[in-house]
Amino acid sequence: MASRHTVLMRLVASAYSIAQKAGSIVRRVIAEGDLGIVEKTCATDLQTKADRLVQMSICSSLARKFPKLTIIGEEDLPSEDVDQELIEDGQWEEILKQPCPSQYSTIKEEDLVVWVDPLDGTKEYTEGLLDNVTVLIGIAYEGKAIAGIINQPYYNYQAGPDAVLGRTIWGVLGLGAFGFQLKEVPAGKHIVTTTRSHSNKLVTDCVTAMNPDDVLRVGGAGNKIIQLIEGKASAYIFASPGCKKWDTCAPEVILHAMGGKLTDIHGNALQYNKDVKHMNSAGVLATLRNYDYYASRVPESVKNALVP
Ligand code: AMP
Ligand code: MG
Ligand code: MG
Repeated sequence: MASRHTVLMRLVASAYSIAQKAGSIVRRVIAEGDLGIVEKTCATDLQTKADRLVQMSICSSLARKFPKLTIIGEEDLPSEDVDQELIEDGQWEEILKQPCPSQYSTIKEEDLVVWVDPLDGTKEYTEGLLDNVTVLIGIAYEGKAIAGIINQPYYNYQAGPDAVLGRTIWGVLGLGAFGFQLKEVPAGKHIVTTTRSHSNKLVTDCVTAMNPDDVLRVGGAGNKIIQLIEGKASAYIFASPGCKKWDTCAPEVILHAMGGKLTDIHGNALQYNKDVKHMNSAGVLATLRNYDYYASRVPESVKNALVP
């Protein structure tokens, strides 16, 4: 029987439940105590058992329900049968009550590309900086990021033993973003958030050029976008290659749905079609407000060093 809901809204509703299951896997791996850390390209580019299990969970759960999707996950994993226990079949009904923006109502499954970062902020995860960690599921159509889901497994973890851990933020362009309370940095304050584990001279040159009142160094692209929408930072600046399409797709949607802007360091929009280069070679510049203040201060030397 054909569903009365659009493919996009069914996909977002399913991805919400799948992201929640992902969050519980991230917490379970820590609780069991064996992180199974593997170095990928170097000591600051890591993969854990949670990265592996969550990617299997998300990609298999999505593919089972939406077999014609293109799904691109961060981790290179051998193709093997996935434990049934990792499969999430639910969908969050609250999302299905929302209207699909009309421009997306006729999208077909095979037209969508899903970018999956099973665990963003892995370095910080291995160091116990648990609130830096997010699970990112970004959905793109015609090369543009249009829907996104961010699960933060350890949201609330410093609030005491009775606190409910974890939350899921979601959004669709043209509909809005939900699951958090929008806050803005006080007008006139320039607080820059940037990488904690992947800094270099270009990154620090660019941050300094912003003449910031404060600089926050934290892990994760998802985490830094949450800082922008919750009034903790006014700009996310990463003037370096290293961040990939699965890092930016879901966060970009949440930011754009709230009227913010995410581009590379030159001001170019990022592309998310399935054949695109994974690396965001020309860095990331993202703000909720006052994008032009930051964009106009990126030094020419930094721009010249970062080729899109
Ligand atoms: P960060 O702000 O350092 O947490 O980086 C945001 C995202 O980009 C994370 O998923 C990082 O793993 C990734 N990333 C940034 N720079 C690098 C790098 N030099 N090598 C590997 N991954 C990186
Ligand atoms: Mg990541
Ligand atoms: Mg990751």
